[in-house]
Amino acid sequence: MTKKRVLSCIQPTGEIHIGNYFGAIKNWVNIQDRYDCVYGVVDLHAMTMPYDPHMLRENTIQMAVDLLACGIDPEKSILFIQSLVPQHTELTWIFNCVASYGELSRMTQFKDKSEQIEDGSKNKFISAGLFTYPVLQAADILIYRANFVPVGKDQEQHLELSRNIAVRFNNQFGEYFPEPKPLLTETSKVMSLADPTKKMSKSLGEKHYIGLFEEENSIRKKVKSAVTDTGESQGNSMSPGVENLFNLIKACEKQEPYEQLLKDFNQGQLRYKDLKEVTADALVEITQPLKEKKNELLKDKAGIEKLLDDLSGKAREIAKETLFEVKKLTGLPVRNL
Ligand code: AMP
Repeated sequence: MTKKRVLSCIQPTGEIHIGNYFGAIKNWVNIQDRYDCVYGVVDLHAMTMPYDPHMLRENTIQMAVDLLACGIDPEKSILFIQSLVPQHTELTWIFNCVASYGELSRMTQFKDKSEQIEDGSKNKFISAGLFTYPVLQAADILIYRANFVPVGKDQEQHLELSRNIAVRFNNQFGEYFPEPKPLLTETSKVMSLADPTKKMSKSLGEKHYIGLFEEENSIRKKVKSAVTDTGESQGNSMSPGVENLFNLIKACEKQEPYEQLLKDFNQGQLRYKDLKEVTADALVEITQPLKEKKNELLKDKAGIEKLLDDLSGKAREIAKETLFEVKKLTGLPVRNL
């Protein structure tokens, strides 16, 4: 039986943090045997917000290296760089004519990000690219005729748009695209260490997140100063900070110490010092081999670039087939493809 295809992409935003790892990437690694996985570093998406061209190129390679270090296996999965597969942008234009202005206007992420630009940057420029971003995302998914997309809550609306585009396309031009469905898997939501009521994110600032490849000392220091609450814990109501540390231990699959600490908590005997020590040990243990793998990979930069070119070439082959069929269906010439 042929495996169902999964598609997932990540923007090259620089250093990844443990929230990205436990919330997304670890799952990407785990599902590689079960599905035909296609993963992408989407540099074209990163152009929709103000950016530095030099950093974009650096971050794109960096993200690909990080994913490989985390365990994305080029023998099992495709890992492509979006701009190296130009068919994404060609399909985007065709989909721009299938998506409606109204449905794009209702995308909450456009509203959020354009407000971010209005509030934050000196240059208040909001690009049309930011508006049509979900159409490029639909092309990312549908160009590979993906069956599943692992989604977080914040991406559900975009997947729905991709599904609408697939259905509308099929109705208008003939049945071709499978309807991409959300792949619901167990992932952890990691909260900020300094403000555990907010999701861990780099934009909150240095003390809020732990980089996946951060030095051991720095990891320990950040966990030590994580916000719990004042005094010893009371009864069975867990503060967001304490819950976050428990969740991290669980995400590191440290079942035994997790249960012991939970028992202590339930008996009102938990010492935050112990909780933090176990959390820091677990994080160091998980991240150490990833750091080693990354350092190993970075020794051969030319080799990495060649690997990414080859893998993007594999992605291009699938994308070309799709575009050929799409052009046939939509009345465009299919010569010279
Ligand atoms: P972003 O760069 O914020 O789009 O994140 C890339 C991936 O990591 C997405 O799948 C997010 O859902 C996931 N992610 C980001 N931050 C967290 C977090 N604090 N906890 C869990 N998952 C996260």
